[in-house]
Amino acid sequence: MSEPSSVAFIGLGNMGAPMSLRLLRAGYAVTGFDLSPGARAAVAAGGARTVETAAEAVRGADVVILMLPSSQAVEAVLGDPAVGEALAAGSTVLDMSSSDPLSTRRLANGLANRDITLVDAPVSGGVEGAQNGTLTIMVGGAAGDVDRLAALLETMGTVRRAGPVGAGHALKAINNLLSATHLLATAEGVLAGERFGLDPAIMVELINAASGRSGSTDNKFPNFVLPGTYDSGFGMNLMVKDMRIAVHLARRLGVAGPLAESAVAVWERALEDLPETADHTEIARWTFERTADRQPVTK
Ligand code: NAD
Repeated sequence: MSEPSSVAFIGLGNMGAPMSLRLLRAGYAVTGFDLSPGARAAVAAGGARTVETAAEAVRGADVVILMLPSSQAVEAVLGDPAVGEALAAGSTVLDMSSSDPLSTRRLANGLANRDITLVDAPVSGGVEGAQNGTLTIMVGGAAGDVDRLAALLETMGTVRRAGPVGAGHALKAINNLLSATHLLATAEGVLAGERFGLDPAIMVELINAASGRSGSTDNKFPNFVLPGTYDSGFGMNLMVKDMRIAVHLARRLGVAGPLAESAVAVWERALEDLPETADHTEIARWTFERTADRQPVTK
């Protein structure tokens, strides 16, 4: 495959919509598809061509980008016989979703038999990074395949090579497990400090100048938790999905640890308690509220 020019973009949600529109503005011929008519309409309003089925989007595309919620959705799209028939030999499937690396490797092996390459390229940087083209893109794939996709990927962010196919997805899941664990730990720490009489804003500012800092103290607390907006654009359901992928992978490899197991259990409880649409930063509010009426231990 030479450098791609025609791109099918499947999954036009919070991330896929701005990413597909960046590709369009960079000169790629983008055809978008999403199960949701509203998501298709939003991208069409931005000037992209949209179609009514995944197979129509895929037909004739050099690269098929997937920006879907999960491996189940990726498997549903790639397992659709009409999509299978429309995917051309020599084309590339670029899975930018945060998928399960075990599923990714299985899919890559199946596609390779038909001379179709799968490259995984999950991202970090949120909706803002998708809009501004400043995502960190963790790419898994053979060096030559990644080279051919470099210019396309760089319209959306910075390419960081993680290793062979599946490596990007493994790294992304582990990254999000860490990110979610930091966020929960920060909420618990801020709560204890506040009970002691500290100002949460001062706590976060000083932690950022000290060794407890993380993406949670640097970004999520100042931007979404402390202002009380809880609107990062990354759903709690998706964060829990990523944590489960990482923990499942660690279990399969015989190295699941107690901290990861308990962090995912707490997040799962929050997910059960909160509405389906909750933002992942709501883990902090949930932590604050469920402990609000607890009394101090007096002896
Ligand atoms: P989203 O829920 O906003 O969008 C997903 C879209 O996929 C929806 O519009 C949905 O209708 C569509 N979809 C689902 N199944 C489909 C199918 N079978 N065929 C076609 N369309 C289908 O999710 P998002 O926030 O855009 O996240 C997409 C991926 O990116 C996820 O894997 C997520 O974990 C990852 N991610 C999200 C963020 C973020 O900040 N939102 C950041 C990094 C990575």
